[in-house]
Amino acid sequence: MHFLESLVAKDLEAGKINKVVTRFPPEPNGYLHVGHAKSICLNFGLAQRFGGDCHLRFDDTNPEKESDEFIQAIQADVRWLGFEWAGDVRYASSYFQQLYDWACYLIDQGLAYVCDLSAEEARTYRGTLTEPGRNSPYRERSVEENRALFASMRAGEFEDGAKVLRAKIDMASPNMNLRDPILYRIRRVVHHQTGSEWVIYPTYDFAHGQGDAIEGITHSICSLEFEDHRPLYDWFINNLPVPSEPHQYEFGRLNLNYTVTSKRKLKQLVDEGVVAGWDDPRMPTIAGMRRRGYSPAAIRTFCDMIGVTRSDGTVDVAMLEHAVRDDLNNNAPRAMAVLNPLTVTLTNLSEDHKEIVMSPNHPQNEALGERELVFTQQVVIDADDFREEANKKFKRLVLGKRVRLRNAYVIEAYDVIKDAEGQVVEVLAKVIENTVGADPEDGIKPKGVIQWVSKSEGGRATIRLYDRLFTQAEPEADGDFMAVVNPNSLVVIERAYVEPSLLAATPEQAFQFEREGYFVADRFDHSAGAPVFNRTIGLRDTWQEGA
Ligand code: ATP
Ligand code: MG
Repeated sequence: MHFLESLVAKDLEAGKINKVVTRFPPEPNGYLHVGHAKSICLNFGLAQRFGGDCHLRFDDTNPEKESDEFIQAIQADVRWLGFEWAGDVRYASSYFQQLYDWACYLIDQGLAYVCDLSAEEARTYRGTLTEPGRNSPYRERSVEENRALFASMRAGEFEDGAKVLRAKIDMASPNMNLRDPILYRIRRVVHHQTGSEWVIYPTYDFAHGQGDAIEGITHSICSLEFEDHRPLYDWFINNLPVPSEPHQYEFGRLNLNYTVTSKRKLKQLVDEGVVAGWDDPRMPTIAGMRRRGYSPAAIRTFCDMIGVTRSDGTVDVAMLEHAVRDDLNNNAPRAMAVLNPLTVTLTNLSEDHKEIVMSPNHPQNEALGERELVFTQQVVIDADDFREEANKKFKRLVLGKRVRLRNAYVIEAYDVIKDAEGQVVEVLAKVIENTVGADPEDGIKPKGVIQWVSKSEGGRATIRLYDRLFTQAEPEADGDFMAVVNPNSLVVIERAYVEPSLLAATPEQAFQFEREGYFVADRFDHSAGAPVFNRTIGLRDTWQEGA
C-alpha cells in the first residue's frame, strides 16, 4: 500500500469516513498527459480499492483558456484508460452561484473586502518571501460598502481588472497564499458552460475546496505544488458554512525524462507545428500514447510501477517504454512487414506457384492461433537483409549463401540483377527443397532467419517510424526545449510491403512486425485500401545501448 492507501484505510477503520470519495479535477485547457494518467490512476484507484466513488470535475474557472474540445477529449481519455466516474460529469462552474453566496457570507463576517489596487500596486503591497506585506488601503471598507461594490462587480458596472474581491486574512503571514488572496476577478469572457451569465469568476483557490465540500469529497488529492495552498484550503473550509469537511493531501507529480509534461509547453509544440496535433503519436498526451499504440493496461502498469510518494522525482521514460514493450510482447500477434523491399525471384518455382505455409501468430501464446501465408515465386525481403558479399557476422542472405525465410523455406541466392546505377534491384535464388520446418538434407544450414512477404499476395503500406521527441534527457535543462526536438522523431516510409493479415488490420490493432518492432494501425489514417502503421516502440531499447 502506498501512503495514501494507508491513510484511507486508517480513516475508514477509525470510522472517520464511511466511504472514500475522491475526484479527478482537470482544467479543460489542454489534453491530458502522462502525468494526469498518474493522478487518474491514483484517484480512481483509491475509489476502486476501497469501494468508494471518484468524481470527474472540470475545474473551469479560467474560461478564456478552456474549450469544449478539451472537455470532450478529457472524458474520452479517462474512459479509454479504463475508468468511469461516479454520477454525471461535474463542473466547478455549476457551483458559481453557491460560491458567490459564500463570498457574500465572508463579506458579512468581515472576512472579505473589495480592493481597488491595480495589479501592479497589489504586487508592491504583497511584500516578499522575506518581508511582510502591507494592508491595502481598501481593507477597512464597511460590510455594507463591500456588499454594494461586490454586487456592482457582478452586475458588470466596472471595467475588467478594476476591482477584485479579497479574503481578509493576514498580510504578514509567512505563507504568501494567506496575504489576502484574491477570491474574485472581473473578466468579461463568455464561459463554455455558463455563457455570459457571469462577468466575475472565482479563483482556483476559492473554487476548489468548496467544490470538494459540496461534493462530499473525503480526500482531495493534488500534486505537491499545492502544499502551500493547504492552509488557505483549510481557512475557507473552516470559515464557511460548507456541507462537509474535505482534506487536502499532496503527492509527488510525475516528471519523465526526454519528455515535457506541461500543458502550456505541449500547446506550444502543437501551435508551432512541431507535431501534428495534441494526439500526435510523439506527444506524451493520453490521446498521443493511444495513437502510438500504448495500451491502457500498459499505462496503468507503468503508474503502478512508479508508485505514489510525497516527493517529486524524474522517472526514466525507459520504464514507460518497458511497460509498453512487455505488454505488446505478451499480447501482440506477430506479422511480417518489409520496410525497404527488395524482390527475390525463386527461379526453381513456377510463376504460378502458390503454396500455403502456416505461421503461428505468437511464439509462446498458442491461443493467438496461426495464419496461412501463401508462398510464391517472387517474395520481397528487406534490402538490408541482403549483401553480395559479407563477413561471417552477417547472418542474413549473401550471394552464394543460404538464409531461412521465416516459417517457410531455406533459400540460396545465386545471382543479382542491377539497374543502370549498379543498384541491386532483384536477387535470383533457389528454394532448397523439403526445408519447411526442417534443415536442408545436404547438411548446409542457413545462418539466419529473415522476414519476407509474397510479392503477389502482400501489398504496400505507409509506415511511420516514431522515436522520442527530444534528444536530451532534460529537454528544459538549457532553457529552450524547442531547440532539442529530435529531427528524426518521425521518418515516413511510403513503400513498405506487408503481408495480407496486415492489409486486413483494423485501426488500433497492434502487431509485432518480426525483427522490426511493435506497430499499430493508425487510429485515424489507416484503411484497408491505404494501410498506415505507426511504430509504437522498437524491440529493444536502443537509447540505452547508446545507438
Ligand atoms: P500542467 O502543469 O500540465 O498544466 P495542471 O496541473 O495545470 O497540469 P490540471 O488540469 O490542473 O493540470 O490537473 C488536473 C490534476 O492532475 C491535478 O490534480 C494535478 O495535480 C494532476 N497532475 C497534473 N500534472 C501532473 C503530473 N505531472 N503528475 C501527477 N499529477 C499531475
Ligand atoms: Mg492546474
